[in-house]
Amino acid sequence: MIPFNKPPYTGNEDKYVIAAMRSSKMSGDGDFTLKCQAWFEQFLACPKALLTPSCTQALEMAAILLDIKEGDEVIMPSFTFVSTANAFVLRGAKIVFVDVRPDTMNVNEELVEAAVTDKTVAIVVVHYAGISCEMDTIMDIAKRKNIFVVEDAAQGMLSAYKGRPLGSIGHMAAFSFHETKNYTSGGEGGLLIINDTQFVSRAEVIREKGTNRSQFFRGMIDKYTWVDIGSSYLPGELQAAYLYGQLERVDEINAARNTIWVAYFEGLKDLAPDFIELPFIPESCTGNAHMFYFKLPSITIRTAVLRFLSEAKIGAVFHYIPLHSSPAGKKLGRFNGVDTYTTKESERLVRLPVWFGMRAEEIQRVIDCVRSAIRETSCLKG
Ligand SMILES: *Cc1c(COP(=O)(O)O)cnc(C)c1O
Repeated sequence: MIPFNKPPYTGNEDKYVIAAMRSSKMSGDGDFTLKCQAWFEQFLACPKALLTPSCTQALEMAAILLDIKEGDEVIMPSFTFVSTANAFVLRGAKIVFVDVRPDTMNVNEELVEAAVTDKTVAIVVVHYAGISCEMDTIMDIAKRKNIFVVEDAAQGMLSAYKGRPLGSIGHMAAFSFHETKNYTSGGEGGLLIINDTQFVSRAEVIREKGTNRSQFFRGMIDKYTWVDIGSSYLPGELQAAYLYGQLERVDEINAARNTIWVAYFEGLKDLAPDFIELPFIPESCTGNAHMFYFKLPSITIRTAVLRFLSEAKIGAVFHYIPLHSSPAGKKLGRFNGVDTYTTKESERLVRLPVWFGMRAEEIQRVIDCVRSAIRETSCLKG
């Protein structure tokens, strides 16, 4: 069996996890948390990086920081993970879904402006598969309309847009260190990036249960107290220690994933465009091989291909069911404009296994099986 995912593990994590276990402080904001945050602040050149227990919680913090209230509208693609929407729905927002571009599966920047109303507070962009949205256009709309941009960069660590790292462009950004992402903090984990300095001090308060405990520990005040709404958005030190081990090996993990991505692309490219559609990376984007996906002509063929691959013990999978067609999405959001591509393209998409540690013969077996699956099913009609 070649699984769809294995959590990244380099062997470098153990020493830090054990050090955290033996230290006198395992709760939030210990040495490893601070080291990870400093790493990101340098890497992204951002004023504040705050580790969280998940990307979901980083998005929840963003929604609180933007003061989302009942009736506010937040624009996002429908082709995304539930947390992108839920974080804002929890604060009372109505979600306004916009169609994706078929080439990248990212929100179609040309359709965003038409979705803006006087209730719009933010646009949440999702960098699908670690490939950037068209950020110049998005940031320009946000500036002109006086709204905020949150990057859901859960899949985007180490990717770039016009040379700028993802997560450094919007007013805020959220990363995930879930075990399915390129880097993990031991299963679950996340990060909130603040690029707009007006949010920095309140972010620290919200993360510390609504108290000014962070300022107290820095000696800026002599007692700490309840000052705002908030929750427990701090991860423990074991998570941070595991992540720190991976941060020392980011380039190695990135290179290994990229090798797999390129092997798939080369191994399947002669099947395009007749049998499959290959992934597309715009000129302005640098990818991180978070995901290798391709598209088949129809959902019928996809179902047959996935069945073939499953019988061959290859962990190939489809992806999001568009949120606007889900029971909660119908109630809590609306689709602005026409769903030209979101549903149609999501039904054609197949993802292949990409994980650190995949051996060359495993990569080759995936390619061979995909080729056989397509040969076997090419007689099917869409
Ligand atoms: C994984 C993912 C999330 C959620 O991340 P968690 O760390 O599991 O909360 C949110 N958005 C996108 C686009 C994701 O891929």
